[in-house]
Amino acid sequence: MKKLVKTSTILIALTFILSCEENVYKQKIISDSAIDRLIKNMSVEQKVGQMTQINIDLISKGEVYKLDVPHQIDSVKLDIALNRYFVGSILNAAGYPFSREHWKDIITTVQTKAISESSNIPVIYGIDAIHGANYTIGSTLFPQQIALAATWNPKLVEKVASITAYDVSASGIPWNFSPVLDLGRQPLWGRYYETFGEDVHLAKTMGKAFIKGYQGDNLKHPQKVAACLKHYVGYSFPLSGKDRTPAWIPDRMLKEYFLPTFKTAIDEGALSIMVNSGEVNGIPVHASYELLTKVLRDELGFEGIILTDWEDIIKLYKDHRIADNMKEAVLIAINAGVDMSMTPNNYSFNDALIELVKEGSIKESRLDESVRRILIAKEKLGLFEAPYPNFDNFPKFGSKEHAVQSLQAAKEAITLVKNENILPLSTSAKILVTGPGANSLNYINGGWTHTWQGDETKYNTPGKNTIQEALKLLSPNVKYMEGSGLDTNINTSETLKEAENHDVIVVCLAEDPAAEGPADINLLDFPKAQENLVKELHKSGKPIVVVSTTARPRLMREIEPFMNAILLAYLPGDEGGTAIAETIFGLNNPSGKLPFTYPKYQGLNISYDHKHTEKVNRFLGQTSSLNEYDAHFKGLVYQWEFGYGLSYSNFEYSELRLNKKSYTQYDTLKIEVTVTNDSKIEGSEVVQVFCSDLVASVTPSVKRLRGFEKIKLKPNESKRATLNIPVKELAFVGVDNKWIVESGKFKLSISNLQSEFSVVGK
Ligand code: BGC
Repeated sequence: MKKLVKTSTILIALTFILSCEENVYKQKIISDSAIDRLIKNMSVEQKVGQMTQINIDLISKGEVYKLDVPHQIDSVKLDIALNRYFVGSILNAAGYPFSREHWKDIITTVQTKAISESSNIPVIYGIDAIHGANYTIGSTLFPQQIALAATWNPKLVEKVASITAYDVSASGIPWNFSPVLDLGRQPLWGRYYETFGEDVHLAKTMGKAFIKGYQGDNLKHPQKVAACLKHYVGYSFPLSGKDRTPAWIPDRMLKEYFLPTFKTAIDEGALSIMVNSGEVNGIPVHASYELLTKVLRDELGFEGIILTDWEDIIKLYKDHRIADNMKEAVLIAINAGVDMSMTPNNYSFNDALIELVKEGSIKESRLDESVRRILIAKEKLGLFEAPYPNFDNFPKFGSKEHAVQSLQAAKEAITLVKNENILPLSTSAKILVTGPGANSLNYINGGWTHTWQGDETKYNTPGKNTIQEALKLLSPNVKYMEGSGLDTNINTSETLKEAENHDVIVVCLAEDPAAEGPADINLLDFPKAQENLVKELHKSGKPIVVVSTTARPRLMREIEPFMNAILLAYLPGDEGGTAIAETIFGLNNPSGKLPFTYPKYQGLNISYDHKHTEKVNRFLGQTSSLNEYDAHFKGLVYQWEFGYGLSYSNFEYSELRLNKKSYTQYDTLKIEVTVTNDSKIEGSEVVQVFCSDLVASVTPSVKRLRGFEKIKLKPNESKRATLNIPVKELAFVGVDNKWIVESGKFKLSISNLQSEFSVVGK
C-alpha cells in the first residue's frame, strides 16, 4: 500500500493561516491555499475516505443493524474506519437515543483518533435531528415541519431551529440532515409531515428561517450546525405516492415549484444538500449530471457538499438498474456530481472509487474538487480548531426555556377549522375525552422520535403530557376512556354510555407514527374504527370536539357533519398535549392556518394554486338551470382551502391600498390593509397576499401566495399591515422555460378584499 502522507504539520499551518484570516472567512471563508496544500499531500485513499460517510454500525460492537446494547464503540472497527479507509464522515445513532455523556464519549473518541491518526482531519458527524435532537435523551422535541409551517411565523420557526442546533451541538454533532424542502403535494406519501406543505412561498420562507436558525451568521459558533437540504429534487412527488418511486416532473414544473425552495436555502448559505433517492423523468437523481451539476452547481450556484442518501450509489445497480455493478454505479454518481457517499454499512464505495482512479477512469483532480468542498465545510464549521465542543457549555439543554418555545410553536400551529360556538370550553364543563390520540406521546410526535419509526414507548420524554393528561391538569372535570384504537374498536359502546354523564366529548383522532417507506399509506380515510367512534358518539346528542393529530390530512368528509368543532394539531411534538389542552380551554387562541389544501376526496388531490381548468365546476353555472348543481359542486372540491384557519377572535379586513396602479417589473408592490380584531379576545391573524396573473402565455394558476405576515391584535384593536412584494416575485416559468414577468393585468386579494394592478414594459 502506498505510504500515506502525514498531514499534521499542514494542519497546524492551516489552523494558523485560518485563524489569522478570521474576518475573511465570514464572507468567502476559506484560505484556498491552505486547503489546497492539505489536499496535495493526501493519498487517493485518504481523498476517497473524505468522500465516504459510514453509519455508526461500522464502528460499533455487534453486527450491522444488530448492535450490542448498551452501545459501545468497537476500537478495532474504528481503527479500520479511520486508519484503513480514512472515512471523513459518520452518521446516526444506534436506533435509539443516547445520553449526552454517551455522545460525548463517541464524538471525543472518534475525533481524537481522527485528528491524531488517519488523515489528521476531523470527522464530520451527521444526524437526523428533524424535529429537535431526537437521538439525544432529554433534548427538546418540537412540532414536525408540517406543523411549523402551519404557524406561518418564520421568526418562531427560526428560534425552533436554533434551539435544535443548540441541542445537536450539545451532543457534539455539527451536521443536521434537515430541513426537508420537498413540497408536500402528495399526502399518501409517507414523508408528507416532514415538509412545509404544498406552497412554494411558504416553504421558501420557512426553509430560510431554518437555515438561519441552524447556521446563524457564523458557523464556527459552538452552538450552530450545518444544514442539509433534503431531498434534492422531486422526491416528494412520486407518481405512485410511494416513497422512492419514480417522479415525472416536466422541466417547467420542476423549475417553478420544486427548485425555488432549494434555491432560497442555497442563497441563505446552506452548507450541504442530500440527493433524492428516487428517479425524476427516468433518471435516478444520483446519476443525473443535468440535475446535480448543470442545475444545482451552475444554475443554482450551490458550492457546498452534495451528499447521497442512504446506500443510493449501491441502489443505482441494485434497484435502479442503470449500472451493472458497484464500480459502474460509482463512476456514474461521481461523474454526475456527488461529493460524499452515504455508504452506511460497508466500504464498497471506497474500493470501487480507488480502483476507478487508479485505472484512470476518474481523474484524481475530480476527487480534489469534492474533497475541497468537504474540507471547506469542515473548516467553516470550525472543526479544525475545535473538533468537538466544550460539552459543559450547554446550560440550557432540555431547559424550561426551550420547552416554552416548543409549546409556543405547537400552540401557534393549531388550526381551528370548524367551531359551532363550542370552543373554547369552560373548565366547569364535564368533558369526556376519548380516541386513540388522547393518551399517546408517540402519536403526537410521529416518526423520527427517539427511534426512526417513532413507535417505541420506552424512550418517551418523562414529564410530558398526553392530551388527556394535559386536559386533566387544567380541569377536574375531565374523564378519559379509550374509545377505540387506531383501527380497532375497544370500548366504543361503554364510551357512548359514559357520554350521557358529560356535557361535551373530545375525540382525539390519530395515525400510526412511522417514517419513510413504512409511513406510506394507500387510503387517506381515517380507519373505520375511528370513523365509527365519532359516528357512535354522535348518537349521544352531546357536542363533539375533534382533535386530529395526523401526519397528513386524513379525510373527514363523512364524519365532519358529526363534529361541532375541529382542531387540527398536525404532529405537535412533546408539548402538543399541553398546547391542545390550553387551546380547548381558551388559554391559547388558535392562529394556525392550513399549509396545504385539505382534501375532501382522495380522487381530488388538488392544490390551491391549481389551473383554471382544474375546477370541477368549470362547465357548470353557464345556464340558470345548472346554478344549483354548480353551487353544490363548488363545495366538493376540497374540505378546507390552503391558508384557512379560524380564531376565537373575529378579524375584519378593510381599506386595501396599493401604492400604484401600474408597475414595472423592477418595482415593488407596497400593500397596506387594515385588520381589525372585532372581538373581546386577543388574537393573531395571518395576512395572506394572493396574486392572480389574469392572462399569461403559460396557463396561469388561479392564484399564488406571494407574501404574508402574522400580526397580533388586542381586543377591538385595528392595525395597518404593510407588505412589500417585489414585482419579480410574480414571475413564472415561460414558454422557453425561463423565468419571466409578463406585462398585463393582475388581481391581488387579501381575505375578502381585492384590487387590480398592471405590470407594464419588459
Ligand atoms: C433518509 C434521509 C436521512 C438518511 C440518514 C435516509 O433513509 O431518506 O432523509 O437523512 O436516511 O438517516
